[in-house]
Amino acid sequence: MKSPLQKSIQKIRSVIKDIQAYHVADARGLIKLDAMENPYALSDGLKAKLQARLSEAELNRYPDPSAAVLREKLRQVMHVPQDKAIVLGNGSDELIQMLAMAVAEHDGADVCLMSFDPGFVMYRMIADFTGIDYVGVSLNEDFSLDMESTRRAIAEKQPSIIFIAYPNNPSANCFNDEDIEEIISLAPGMVVLDEAYHPFAQASFMDRLVEHDNLLVMRTVSKMGLAGLRLGLLCGHPDIIAEIDKIRLPYNINVLTQLTAELVLDNVAEIDKQAELIREQREVLLQQMAMHKDLHVFPSQANFILFRVLNRGAVDVFESIKQSGVLIKNMKADTGLLSNCLRVTVGTPDENRAFMSALMKAMKNE
Ligand SMILES: *Cc1c(COP(=O)(O)O)cnc(C)c1O
Repeated sequence: MKSPLQKSIQKIRSVIKDIQAYHVADARGLIKLDAMENPYALSDGLKAKLQARLSEAELNRYPDPSAAVLREKLRQVMHVPQDKAIVLGNGSDELIQMLAMAVAEHDGADVCLMSFDPGFVMYRMIADFTGIDYVGVSLNEDFSLDMESTRRAIAEKQPSIIFIAYPNNPSANCFNDEDIEEIISLAPGMVVLDEAYHPFAQASFMDRLVEHDNLLVMRTVSKMGLAGLRLGLLCGHPDIIAEIDKIRLPYNINVLTQLTAELVLDNVAEIDKQAELIREQREVLLQQMAMHKDLHVFPSQANFILFRVLNRGAVDVFESIKQSGVLIKNMKADTGLLSNCLRVTVGTPDENRAFMSALMKAMKNE
């Protein structure tokens, strides 16, 4: 006889049981340079305004279900073309999930979600839990798009949706413009440009929404300094956005997030300044790291840097850096494009100095 617990678990789809839960490392007591967070807090002045604003929030009422005020501010700050529509998500992760749900099980046809590997892990995870095939086209060794494989994969698999992270995570580069244009024109369905790192790349497909009806641009406030809010936006043709909006759960953007984001967007110069500092610090780190002969440092247009450790084990270097009090990300690859690679988020000048000295110590150890 099976217990009620065993019977309950048996009802859960096997694709779910096979998924490895997304692992978040314990960062207590460590300098946290593992998750592409902005290291800077809001100014005291803005914090005081925020406190006043939030104390007036009507927590007993449901929030504005469509967050109309916030959407208008986002449209202005992020230069979303006037005739394009916007839908908001509880983080861009939720938008990826809504998009996947929108294309899943399409009239019994085989459905697949295409992206590029190594890439953002949530595309594959969400494809798995919505029951869609994931097709990951391998990038070239320098993390550029392999257009021959891409053309072939599009022709063979006819993906319902293609995700392109721009810049890509974990490689930190922006793919070639013409390659992306070609993908948009070859795609038999939607193409989503995931511009999570836009504040650090200063390159965007947002103004090209007017040229391609199957293009969608996704942004988030997470990497620009508001990761705790959980707010992402998807911009594109109103007819597509209207369909995606049907899947959105009502009130998915809570009142505290709406009020906070509105206030910060009214003072956007403050976080623009932070992004500028991070871009400057990225160049400093890139330069310092590049001087070490046993590090292969990849170019970055994001707020993090991917690097390969040569002549040593990346695991040992990662652990040694952690022993020195700095948490970065171990890409955990023995083979393939990410073999022996680690990823570090750009922090404050002090944090970066701590990282550099931990890294130099780790490289000497062996
Ligand atoms: C971090 C990241 C996101 C996640 O954004 P949230 O808005 O925090 O859910 C989306 N896409 C890429 C490529 C990322 O690296």
